[in-house]
Amino acid sequence: MSKKVDVDVAIMGSGVAGLGAAYKLVNAGVTNVAIFEKYPAQGGAVSNCPMCFCATPDTPEAQKSAFDVLARFSNYTANLGLVSKVVKYSSELPDLVLNKLNIQAPMVVNREPADYGNQRGYTMGHANGLDVGDIYFINGRGQGHAFALVCLRLRRMLEKEGVQFYFRTPIKKIIRDSASGKVTGAIAYDEDGEEIDISCKALIVASGGISSNMEMMKEEGVLHTKFEDVYRDGSGAQVIVMFPDSCQDGDGQKAVWEVGGKKTGIVISACPQVPNPGVLVGPNTPWLGASQIQLFADCPYLRVNELGKRFINEEMANNHTAISSSLSLNCPNMCCYLIFDEDTADFMNKHGVEEGYAYFIFAGATVQNIRDQIDHAIALGNKHMCHFDTIHEVCEYMGIDEAGLKKTLEKYNKAAVTGIDEEFKKNPKYIKPVKEESGHIYCFRLFAGGYDTMGGLAIDDNANVVDAEDYPIEGLYAGGDIATASLYGNPPANAGGTVFGSMTTGMIAGDSAAAYVKGEA
Ligand SMILES: Cc1cc2nc3c(=O)[nH]c(=O)nc-3n(C[C@H](O)[C@H](O)[C@H](O)COP(=O)(O)OP(=O)(O)OC[C@H]3O[C@@H](n4cnc5c(N)ncnc54)[C@H](O)[C@@H]3O)c2cc1C
Repeated sequence: MSKKVDVDVAIMGSGVAGLGAAYKLVNAGVTNVAIFEKYPAQGGAVSNCPMCFCATPDTPEAQKSAFDVLARFSNYTANLGLVSKVVKYSSELPDLVLNKLNIQAPMVVNREPADYGNQRGYTMGHANGLDVGDIYFINGRGQGHAFALVCLRLRRMLEKEGVQFYFRTPIKKIIRDSASGKVTGAIAYDEDGEEIDISCKALIVASGGISSNMEMMKEEGVLHTKFEDVYRDGSGAQVIVMFPDSCQDGDGQKAVWEVGGKKTGIVISACPQVPNPGVLVGPNTPWLGASQIQLFADCPYLRVNELGKRFINEEMANNHTAISSSLSLNCPNMCCYLIFDEDTADFMNKHGVEEGYAYFIFAGATVQNIRDQIDHAIALGNKHMCHFDTIHEVCEYMGIDEAGLKKTLEKYNKAAVTGIDEEFKKNPKYIKPVKEESGHIYCFRLFAGGYDTMGGLAIDDNANVVDAEDYPIEGLYAGGDIATASLYGNPPANAGGTVFGSMTTGMIAGDSAAAYVKGEA
């Protein structure tokens, strides 16, 4: 006989979205709540990582500016009622994190509402358009695991209120009553594979992305590259910086689609990467550099696709989501080639990274012996970088169309002289010519890497999952990275997973589910 759990609200996933939902339920007096988590611990396979979060202050100017920026950012394809609520709920985050959970923020970057949406580089973790408030850098544990502490303290706070946590217990199926159309339960499996029948008045799905599930990423069109290996969980090359054995398997998306939930586009979020080995430290801090190679990935130097063609103004190099989105959506095999010559290597050696393009490092950091660092990575087995005397050798090794690249270089090197980039309008100060006469040519293959995938489920302004006709499915809610197409646009291209969007949609789901189970909706 299967085990039974009877609760008011069941939550699938204990990342920031699931925990945010439980926090709101408890605040609304709904404490008969159970969180089912596939991983052995709370926090989400990815949500241990964030160093900082964004929160829009609760002032009319700030709220209006953030709302306008996000609406424009989504080309008005987001659910704008949801956008408005997310902006409002985000203003509660500092009080929750700093006061209620007693976590320090040694650095807070206060931004003027008029400036929202204008910051190109790395802001709250993600780029352009999403810098819609103040950015709080918080103290955490270990190297960059700031939000782990938030999640741990939140779990303890919730347990004291009576919320039950079931770890290593994935929900796989949702029960929707065919007569009433309401969601009334779910099926989970415990560590021993025993079925658990969950009976609930409402279910909140907050199970994150699908980046551990290669097959699903291919089926959903997220992955379309001959270099599949660099996306394989646990592979040495991994360019999606999640934890090994994370549970980003798409169970939530599949279960909701099965009961009639509307499907949205899914994309990889942010952070273009030169794959390992020899580039990043791993596996538990995969965002930290093992060499200085990744520094080049943020610099505004020439990038071409496999056809040898440019595809973006490289000034966007440190707008991680812009580069990743254009690689995913517009470049063959989801990759590009960063190419520079000996003069540029020399510039990086003497002057350091371009001002404004420093990410995770100090401005002015210089790059010493890049050739040795590349050789070291190649000796470790890296196949995504090279250096040769000629363009021909680079093209042959990397598989770039040589005629295409030579045409591009002709135009690009001319633009370096005239200062006018006819094609992509790049600021001339960043147009560094690429010439064999400099002595040497360097090349890195960059992929649309990221932190997770975004999207899959459509929700309304109450974080209610909607059906194909955009009507809410009673008793079914969703929040977090899984629901970002309703917040940033469908597909949520150029958006990144954030606490700002994921915790708040979870909180909205919690408030809405509380009202629903109390009969106040
Ligand atoms: C390296 C890195 C750095 C980042 N930095 C920042 C930053 O600085 N600032 C910022 O704002 N954001 C940052 N982000 C993004 C942020 O972490 C995410 O947007 C956010 O954590 C997503 O939360 P979530 O709850 O939607 O999903 P997740 O955190 O992915 O949680 C989903 C949970 O559901 C569980 N689950 C999956 N399937 C099931 C199932 N069948 N049953 C039950 N449970 C299931 C998973 O195990 C997981 O615990 C970063 C992300 C990464 C990876």
